[in-house]
Amino acid sequence: MKFQWLCLGLALIILTGCGNSPVGQSSEGGSNTAQPQARVLLIGLDGTRSAGIQQANTPNLDALIAEGFVDYDAITNDVSLSGPGWASMLSGVWCDKHGVVDNDLTWANSRFDEYPHVLFYAEQQRPQINSASVSHWAPINSEIACADERGGECVLDHVMSVATDIEVRDEVVRLLRDEDPHFLFMQFDDIDHAGHGDLTDGGTDIGGFCPHPGGDPSGGNQGGVCSALDYNANYISTIELTDGYVGEIMAALKARPNYAEENWLVLSSPDHGGAGTVKNQHGFPTAQERRTFFISSGQAARPFPDAQVKIVDVAATALHHLGITIDPAWGLDGRPVAVVDAPDYVDDATPSCFNPAVFLPDIGTL
Ligand SMILES: [Zn+2]
Repeated sequence: MKFQWLCLGLALIILTGCGNSPVGQSSEGGSNTAQPQARVLLIGLDGTRSAGIQQANTPNLDALIAEGFVDYDAITNDVSLSGPGWASMLSGVWCDKHGVVDNDLTWANSRFDEYPHVLFYAEQQRPQINSASVSHWAPINSEIACADERGGECVLDHVMSVATDIEVRDEVVRLLRDEDPHFLFMQFDDIDHAGHGDLTDGGTDIGGFCPHPGGDPSGGNQGGVCSALDYNANYISTIELTDGYVGEIMAALKARPNYAEENWLVLSSPDHGGAGTVKNQHGFPTAQERRTFFISSGQAARPFPDAQVKIVDVAATALHHLGITIDPAWGLDGRPVAVVDAPDYVDDATPSCFNPAVFLPDIGTL
């Protein structure tokens, strides 16, 4: 409320877009006076294809999109695996810098000493920021948030790895109800498991990241290897179940006593797609496996028609909204997108890390 009255007063004087600019937040320079209430909720949806959320009934993601922006043609690394995907989303640099190109071995060679979780910088400059990471896939916390390269020191204030998506939901709801987070990351994993056929592990579920009942329409970036026979209803139903968790989380967010003043930016993206090469696998550099989506929602969200959103842009966008000035010396590849006062976008090429000599796709656990 104070913010609105201040804007009204300023508008009389400077006749410029005060309403578009959170108080004290600047995209360039002087970030330490940033609006302390600016907050970020980052919802990570492992293995969720753009075509999946377009086909499934997802009223809660739809509500986020209605209050913001979506790019259904965002893009991840050319090694379309979870390790490099989450590493790029959370460090803001591509695989050639952070060094993670698989889900297992290359954590040991990662460079999170040089390219840490982005909240390393936020916590360094403004330690009062309360940050949390709640993840079903444990390496996000054990390898990125609390990297060996930093002696296992955790960047975030609250790091919790859990065994189920329900526990992710419950912990995030608890944090929003009982704590005071400024940056809250969560990762849901069951959609990816459904794609691999891991979820109902009776040996008969062959999975598939195939959301089209009649098979993928031919042509364009909706293609891939999914015929009508490959349609995986379980993939759709798991997306819809997870969308319900998003709804419960958003209800908890909006029930916060000071929600109206907290200026939450809600971001949501997956780490990779699927069904480009083998219907229940991913990891190859095909369009279907690299294609992701990016949602930016809330009063600070803005349209972004300029370019394809890249997975490395997520971190820069979060930092920008928190009012952290991005130092060029950090070497971030991403840039703020679809958020108020974002600087002009530079559409850099993406590097390649795909080496067929050593590459192994993610085939799930069956
Ligand atoms: Zn996977």
